[in-house]
Amino acid sequence: MSKPRSTTPGAGCLALLLLCLLGPLAGSSQAATPVASFASPACPTDVATWHIAYRLYWTSSLGQTTSRSALPSTLRRAEEFATDVSEDSACGVRAVVDVFDEGAAIWPASKNSEGSPADTQAFLAAGGYDWIFYRFPSNGESYCAITNSTGFPTQGTSPSQSRFPVDPEGRLGCEAGSRFDCTCEPSDVLMEHEWLHAVVAFYNPRLGWPRPDVHGACAHGFPGSRCPGEGVNEAYFAAMMQGLVEEADGPKGIEPDEWTRQGTPAHPLISHPRLRVRALRRARMSVSLPPGLGGSVRLTVKTRQGRTVRTQLVRTRKLVFSIPRPGRWLVCLDFEGSESYYRARPCSEWSFYRSDFAHRGRK
Ligand SMILES: [Zn+2]
Repeated sequence: MSKPRSTTPGAGCLALLLLCLLGPLAGSSQAATPVASFASPACPTDVATWHIAYRLYWTSSLGQTTSRSALPSTLRRAEEFATDVSEDSACGVRAVVDVFDEGAAIWPASKNSEGSPADTQAFLAAGGYDWIFYRFPSNGESYCAITNSTGFPTQGTSPSQSRFPVDPEGRLGCEAGSRFDCTCEPSDVLMEHEWLHAVVAFYNPRLGWPRPDVHGACAHGFPGSRCPGEGVNEAYFAAMMQGLVEEADGPKGIEPDEWTRQGTPAHPLISHPRLRVRALRRARMSVSLPPGLGGSVRLTVKTRQGRTVRTQLVRTRKLVFSIPRPGRWLVCLDFEGSESYYRARPCSEWSFYRSDFAHRGRK
């Protein structure tokens, strides 16, 4: 047999409307003091709290600027966002938003502002933040808000960021009911939309997420004023955040107790399961599962051409099975996830030779 080659899902971009989810970035270190800090109202009990940094840039490396006159409304919306988080989740989760005035620091602009400051990851780490929002002068980006997650599409890995380019003149537009354009000041609900991309990437609700999660308002009968394609609908977000989005096979979304059970990106209480596949002697293989997995795993053995020769549920911690004949085989495990572990679908390819079968039949 030969060493397995793992196949994992490719990094993806959920490019819907002008709001989107992209791949990873990195950086170095910084210590800073917030100019304002807004916390969700207190809840009856202690619940998971997302610590979010909101960094405001006024000048870009391409010379664009945005007016400081918008600062009061920027702060007001950050405060509203923090309130929305606890209210819309029925106190399942809270947020603390620390706002940083980056002063004379220059936003590293590029054609479509794919980049962000080099200290992003270090800033998150230094402040113990779960997430980061950037507001900066627009350079005509193809989006009004975008979310980068180093945790997508596998869940619960590094915390990351959302970016909001704003009109250089500081005009405000979103709340007038116009369609999105890049002159918008990020509203509380637009911030909530982007944050929810992070939430969907991180949490593993027992009911599952509705489809197409953050962008599903119209599909679930929350029409608002902008269907089709509604992406910013607070009532829908609240339903997602309470496990109340109705679908044919039952409600979807995250229920109030699950936020605290699973933690936050900087303090995760849920982890990736170690689903081990090993080759044994005599053309046998074993699957080993961690204790307390909280669910069964479906094992599928396929030929390289994709024909399934074995499929079964693994309900015990260890299972040994035989490979039927020499050749290359794809061994896939499918775990739906649980309260302790993320869903996982590893596949690995194995080669078996005639010599591996030589002893078969002997005692
Ligand atoms: Zn989106």
